[in-house]
Amino acid sequence: MEPRLFTREPMDLAAELAAGTYGPVTCGDLIAEIEAAGLRGRGGAGFPAHIKWRAVAANPGPRVVVANGEEGEPVSHKDRWLLTHRPHLVLDGLLLAAQAVGADRAVVYLSHSDTVTAIGAALAERAPAVRVDVHVVEPTYVAGEESAACRSISGGPALPQARPPRVCDQGVDGHPTLVSNVETLAHAAWIARHGAAAYRRRGTPESPGTTLVTLTGAVAEPGVYEVPFGLTLTELFDVAGGFTCDPAGFVMGGWFGGLLGPRHANLRVTYEDVRAAGSGLGCGAVTALAAGQEPLAVAADITAWYAEESARQCGVCVRGTAAIRDAFAALRSGTASGKDRADLARWGETLPGRGACAFLDGAAGWARTVLTEFGGVTT
Ligand code: SF4
Repeated sequence: MEPRLFTREPMDLAAELAAGTYGPVTCGDLIAEIEAAGLRGRGGAGFPAHIKWRAVAANPGPRVVVANGEEGEPVSHKDRWLLTHRPHLVLDGLLLAAQAVGADRAVVYLSHSDTVTAIGAALAERAPAVRVDVHVVEPTYVAGEESAACRSISGGPALPQARPPRVCDQGVDGHPTLVSNVETLAHAAWIARHGAAAYRRRGTPESPGTTLVTLTGAVAEPGVYEVPFGLTLTELFDVAGGFTCDPAGFVMGGWFGGLLGPRHANLRVTYEDVRAAGSGLGCGAVTALAAGQEPLAVAADITAWYAEESARQCGVCVRGTAAIRDAFAALRSGTASGKDRADLARWGETLPGRGACAFLDGAAGWARTVLTEFGGVTT
């Protein structure tokens, strides 16, 4: 059995070598191999990784690759865990990505001091073939968005930028840039050694391989786990010791995928199944609501956070997140009108895709899923 991404103990280079992590790269064309493996980006969008990689490689150099470890989702810890436990696997994926797209500069983009320490120690243990910089940014929800990362590394604010240009065309210092989530890079390093066919032995045909998930809430042993795609939500929480009570719902994708009701306990955790349920897998964080936790109170608190955390660059985001917050506050207090419900239903459908980044989509997801899943709640 090939090694997994997940290890209980942090691994320095000696531990990685002893574990046999770094065998020879078995593929001639890593971009073709990650395409054959069906690797999707793990930063939240689930976009096929090879498309971004190929777009950067097709542009004239110089090119830059960025390992994005700025984990803005409040309940997700998998990127931070990966950077502190498997820093060499991330660096290896970053350097292989640089080679694959023809980049001569690499950047590790992160926030937390423990990740800075871990990556610094790992870099001191190896001699990268290309320049590797470590760029530290203040943690915010939007700082991890890829255009925000490129702006920050270029000396600007860590705020998203309207597209075009896409960062694969003009990113860091105006150069074509591949911004790849650190988990995506770790999977790419794994695929480079073990191949697409081995990767596809886990997971499902449409969502192959494994994923890191952060499980919180009503669960016996909250934490980060590596699981194959295709488990049901109940099986997922069984990996972490099981539910501590009958869950009242599931907050999906960090806070990005909205709220699914308890009827989804047997929903399979794949990109396709979760999307078909009206939600999103996002960064892979799932919180089980405890029995008795009031869905409207959770929605009111989290959408208030959205209104507070908006980067306030796009009028539609400032107004939209505030309006969603106010409607949920009215629902929670029992003062909501039929118009509030109708507005939420409409915003859930019409606001996604309207901001310069996907932040507004997350707030709209709450409007859409809470009404669909808990439409019968009394106010
Ligand atoms: S959608 Fe919201 S968070 Fe994203 S750039 Fe616009 S104002 Fe900022």
